[in-house]
Amino acid sequence: MTSITERCLFCRIASGEIPAKVVFQDTLTVAFEDINPQAPTHLVLIPRRHISSLDEMTENDAEAVGGVLFRATEIARARHLNDEGYRLVINQGEAAGQTVFHIHVHLLAGRNFVWPPG
Ligand code: 5GP
Ligand code: ZN
Repeated sequence: MTSITERCLFCRIASGEIPAKVVFQDTLTVAFEDINPQAPTHLVLIPRRHISSLDEMTENDAEAVGGVLFRATEIARARHLNDEGYRLVINQGEAAGQTVFHIHVHLLAGRNFVWPPG
């Protein structure tokens, strides 16, 4: 039996087993370029710890997930994405578009975004 972290795509990216264009990492967070970018800047930020989705979050995960959000704001400032604006997206569940079941934040910037989202 393989464990969930052995099977999970984003756990394997976090461990370096699967290559990705990593732009930031620390003990809690890994940020990398999305393989299929939906905007000129499209990063995916994940907690290193495997948490399947927002719906699976416990209070114990709050620091890890909050850390991911904070790093997104730091990366956005460092790249001056805050000048024009940027969008953070977390898809929860298949109907919302979640395809990888390891919590991740999309950081999208470099074009105008519509509201409401599609
Ligand atoms: P979701 O649809 O679950 O919110 O987002 C998953 C994201 O992961 C998608 O934007 C997709 O393009 C990206 N993705 C899927 N597989 C890979 C991969 O192997 N490498 C990278 N860098 N991104 C991936
Ligand atoms: Zn995982």
